[in-house]
Amino acid sequence: MNNCIFCKIAAKQIPAATVYEDEDLLVFKDINPAAPVHLLIIPKLHLDTLSAAQEEHAGLLGKMLALAPRIADEYGCAPVANADGELSGGYKTLINTGPDGGQEVYHLHMHVIGGPKPWRGQR
Ligand code: 5GP
Ligand code: ZN
Repeated sequence: MNNCIFCKIAAKQIPAATVYEDEDLLVFKDINPAAPVHLLIIPKLHLDTLSAAQEEHAGLLGKMLALAPRIADEYGCAPVANADGELSGGYKTLINTGPDGGQEVYHLHMHVIGGPKPWRGQR
């Protein structure tokens, strides 16, 4: 019996605020957001950690990374330049791995964190 909370979200056994879904990936809002925009990109396939990913998962990892800027853009987080070329906006993409990496949920996920500051712990 798989007791993984993100597998249960992917299987729609427990609810989440889903913002994107395709055959391989699901994106939903973090339940305890660290910033105005805090989304989690997960593969539907269960992998405990980034370190559990193998060469055969390279395409899946690539899809996760390629989706992040599209989702960030949809949520108004894309970096933009003004007429003077000064950048504003932007976001973080983050994968915590293992205890020392601060991982709490052992189903691979990528955080997409952005929006107007201040955020938790950020100026
Ligand atoms: P980690 O530290 O493992 O990288 O981050 C796990 C994230 O998952 C945390 O930011 C936490 O708030 C979020 N999270 C944990 N349980 C749930 C849940 O049941 N639903 C949602 N939407 N997010 C969750
Ligand atoms: Zn899982």
